[in-house]
Amino acid sequence: MNFRTIPVFVLAAGVATFALAASRDSIDNIGETRLKGPLGERLDRMIERHVLGTDPNYITAPFMEKTETKGWWQTEFWGKWMHSAIPYSHYAPSDRMYNAIETGIGRILESQEPSGYIGNYPDELRCGEGWDVWGMKYTLMGLLHDYDNEQRGGFVSRMNVPLDAAKKLCDYVIAEIGPNGRRGRELWQTGNWSGYASSSILEPVVWLYRRTNEKKYLDFADYIVKGMTEPEKGPRLLDLALKGVSVADRNGYGNKPDAHGGYVMKHNRSKAYEMMSCYQGILDYVEAKSAELKVESGELRDLRKAAIMTAEDIVKEEINLETCVTTTWMRFCEKLLEVTDDPKWADELEKTFYNAYLAAMKMDGSEFAGYTPLSGNRWHGQHHCYMHTDCCTANGPRGFLCFLKELCRNDGKTATFNFYASALVKGFDMYSLYPRANYARIVCA
Ligand SMILES: [Zn+2]
Repeated sequence: MNFRTIPVFVLAAGVATFALAASRDSIDNIGETRLKGPLGERLDRMIERHVLGTDPNYITAPFMEKTETKGWWQTEFWGKWMHSAIPYSHYAPSDRMYNAIETGIGRILESQEPSGYIGNYPDELRCGEGWDVWGMKYTLMGLLHDYDNEQRGGFVSRMNVPLDAAKKLCDYVIAEIGPNGRRGRELWQTGNWSGYASSSILEPVVWLYRRTNEKKYLDFADYIVKGMTEPEKGPRLLDLALKGVSVADRNGYGNKPDAHGGYVMKHNRSKAYEMMSCYQGILDYVEAKSAELKVESGELRDLRKAAIMTAEDIVKEEINLETCVTTTWMRFCEKLLEVTDDPKWADELEKTFYNAYLAAMKMDGSEFAGYTPLSGNRWHGQHHCYMHTDCCTANGPRGFLCFLKELCRNDGKTATFNFYASALVKGFDMYSLYPRANYARIVCA
């Protein structure tokens, strides 16, 4: 695409008023949107073949079997699935979706140990190398999506069971690798990529704080942010960003830029998916902490600036065409749009959606390619961790939600359309042949 989509402002006189979605990973209003035309057909196919096509027994089996010894990431798949299954259960409600969510959450809750742990690592390998903390991050997200669904009158009634399970799981992480934790190491020292992967647990920890208002979770978030920003060998997400060090050059600080293999996996800082996931959590943290302090301190302003500067550097230097990165980048843009209200982030989201995202999705919607190179071969989804799924295929469905969520904003006085598409959305009926034609007809439905 070679033109910029200018948001169209429509006076909404006479139109029913809508409250703005809460500024958290909200599924509000997804049920008020219906995408039509070729995009709508692709989305419908993806929901049918991919989201509904995922067997909840299969992706929760690792939690029941607990056989991990290789440091793999089998426990990310259920949480990622919930990240899209819950919102799509509002977009396209069905008994099948309901039953799949119920089956999955039932097994996850059943698998929780008295210690609070939910995962598949043996005790001696927990909260250390590999992807255990990362898996717990996605499990926390899955539990909190289920809790949110309950709160907005979803279709089941478990009261606070998923929230209590999330609290117990987070308490476990705090006890093991929080301040003076039982394992004798800090959270950022676990997992891969200089602590990026584990540190990205910040995002659901902030979600948990917002849903419980329990100070211990905000204190834990403070501790995670400290680990992300202060240790010389840690993620250093603040100082390197404020110094203007490009994302691709950050490995040179404190690590060997020419190192390879296991060393790179452990210590490199040039890892787009995990790095952006950390900044996503930082933006949530800045909001939550500012609300708590009733003011945005200089320290919080710097953190927000570091996230924005990093995003601008990504636009300027390189956008990696890997589906985990694509989806995470779209989520990051969605958050940046919320935080800054700058339409340039809607443009970035749109560019990535039409080019990288749709190109990575198989025509029948059943899976996503990992890498989508500009020439050469595009591969089918892969098999990760000895399973019939992979990181990118699991992340894929969440990306479409970024497009749906930002399609139209309506604060009751003004509606802002960030993209053109044929859709019924929040009281409007939009017709467009975009990107074949650069205009849209919008009428009050
Ligand atoms: Zn991936």
